[in-house]
Amino acid sequence: MSHFSYQDGVLCAEHTPLTQIARQFGSPTYIYSKAALVENFSSYADACKKHGRTDDTALVCYSVKSNSNLAVLQLLGKLGSGFDIVSGGELLRVLAAGGSPRKVIFSGVGKSREEMQLALSHDILCFNVESIPELHRLNEVAGEMGKRASVSLRVNPNVDAKTHPYISTGLKDNKFGVAYEDALTTYRVASALPNISVVGIDCHIGSQLLDDAPLLEAVDKLIELIDALAAEGIVIHHLDIGGGIGINYDNDKPVAVGDYLARVFAKVDAWRAKNHAGAPIKVLFEPGRSIVGNAGILLTEVQYIKHGETKNFAIVDAAMNDLMRPAMYEAWHGVQPVLQRHVAAQTYDVVGPVCESGDWLARSRELAIQEGDLLAIMSAGAYGMTMSSNYNTRGRAAEVMVDGATVHLIRKRELASDLFALETLLP
Ligand SMILES: *Cc1c(COP(=O)(O)O)cnc(C)c1O
Repeated sequence: MSHFSYQDGVLCAEHTPLTQIARQFGSPTYIYSKAALVENFSSYADACKKHGRTDDTALVCYSVKSNSNLAVLQLLGKLGSGFDIVSGGELLRVLAAGGSPRKVIFSGVGKSREEMQLALSHDILCFNVESIPELHRLNEVAGEMGKRASVSLRVNPNVDAKTHPYISTGLKDNKFGVAYEDALTTYRVASALPNISVVGIDCHIGSQLLDDAPLLEAVDKLIELIDALAAEGIVIHHLDIGGGIGINYDNDKPVAVGDYLARVFAKVDAWRAKNHAGAPIKVLFEPGRSIVGNAGILLTEVQYIKHGETKNFAIVDAAMNDLMRPAMYEAWHGVQPVLQRHVAAQTYDVVGPVCESGDWLARSRELAIQEGDLLAIMSAGAYGMTMSSNYNTRGRAAEVMVDGATVHLIRKRELASDLFALETLLP
């Protein structure tokens, strides 16, 4: 069920008309539905429960980079979520939101010494290491602190996720992970280092995957490696499949999360029954988009209607700095007028005020609108606010979370003075 729907001709978030949110908080504004977030997280948590998994045998680590607002992290943490982070800053967000560092895994190809120190000082669950030099650095930093770092290696299973090249990460020629062929050697290096404990294996093959076949193929490949490692006496305690499940942007039919998890657990259980009865393995997931993507929209106001020679433009007050996905990946987002008008529709490109031709949010849409109307850019909860910038000295949008009939402001709109507060004039 969508949590953004028309009620009496007005688009609402849960039960709150977007016109009311615009009056109260201005535009552009990111709007998230609490019920949608709970429902999406529960589709993971419920599937784990249904298949007999407890906190010791399955963990959902929400990918913080998809939407890192503190209120979102707080809500998910309370529901039992762990967190997949890619920077020290994201760890500080998780802590500020009351999340448990014992449920944090740290991904990313370029962890700095300072980030390692911060994560080690909070005893995070695991570092997802992506190279041999990173292993050596982590070993050194942990040694200096008198700690042992728990490590999983991100292995590149070399399966084709069949998604946009910019969000495909599991093939040979990208910067992520350790090549499949090099995995055993790299594990040998890791297990010989004094301040490293090998605990897991992980992968993340891409994003916006509609079909789970490539993910299941990756599970098979990781299981093969776990067996090969066991033969050498290297014991893997957890298998982390990464994130990547897609959402419906435009008549997309993503696999149901419950079905996907059922297939993963079935594979893992069958393998354990065959070779490893009794040896427990914990399964980790790192979903981002499938939890927040369709739980959020970007509300914007039409500033001008401009009739060009070959095109009509709806110039709105949101722009590529607010929602970068169209400019960056030519991503498609639904656009819905907040008020359903009974006038003839025209075809528009929905564009922002930023001085770049790439600054568009949607192209060739049939819209019945006039100047001053509000539009909702749909499916904007993931990689929306987190990828925003201040290009053109535009303050970031406000963020609100709707909970039934209550609307909470969870991030104030940035003022221009906020944007240059850290700058100084020459003496
Ligand atoms: C971005 C990312 C995720 C989340 O991916 P989604 O497609 O949003 O589910 C998970 N794991 C890692 C390592 C990532 O970089």
